[in-house]
Amino acid sequence: MALTFDAGADAGYTGQILDTLSARRVRAMFGVTGKWAKANPELMERIVNEGHTVINHTYTHRSLTGYSTGEQPLSYDERADELWKTHSLILELTGASTKPYFRPPYGDYDESVLSDVYSRGYTYNVMWSVDSLGWKGLPKEKITERVLDGLEPGAIYLFHVGSQSQDGPALPGIISALRARGYGFVTVDEYLRPEG
Ligand SMILES: [Zn+2]
Repeated sequence: MALTFDAGADAGYTGQILDTLSARRVRAMFGVTGKWAKANPELMERIVNEGHTVINHTYTHRSLTGYSTGEQPLSYDERADELWKTHSLILELTGASTKPYFRPPYGDYDESVLSDVYSRGYTYNVMWSVDSLGWKGLPKEKITERVLDGLEPGAIYLFHVGSQSQDGPALPGIISALRARGYGFVTVDEYLRPEG
């Protein structure tokens, strides 16, 4: 299965999460906003240097469709700008490209979002099969329970790095529990290949 971490609020547990992943030799994917990368250039560099994959999570984390925020959908140009600003900043900070991975803020997308981001080089919309709900304030034990309940071959887990969530502190126990059940870790790019 694959572990993905969203980074859009504070730096939170990012350092601890990177330490855990590197000690356990697990590679993950990080969905990063441009704003977060700008505020945390050293952590951004660590994510890339330690072998993780970066997902473009837009610059400002506005909903592209407005579903979750009740706002107007963003125009094509606004969507392109969100992607481009994030991409060029991360490229400048780390030398790594965010293409072809995109993750929509709040998970809000529709056909127009998919075709707009595709036209800018983002051919993978990286969603998830299990949300840890750590961001809702669940304690470590509940997070681990949710992870194990949602376990299946090909599962994609959503965690958050921010201090609001206990995902970071729960991670060492989660990795041990998953390994004990015989599961290994891949990044999404290792099992999602372009079709056709
Ligand atoms: Zn997000």
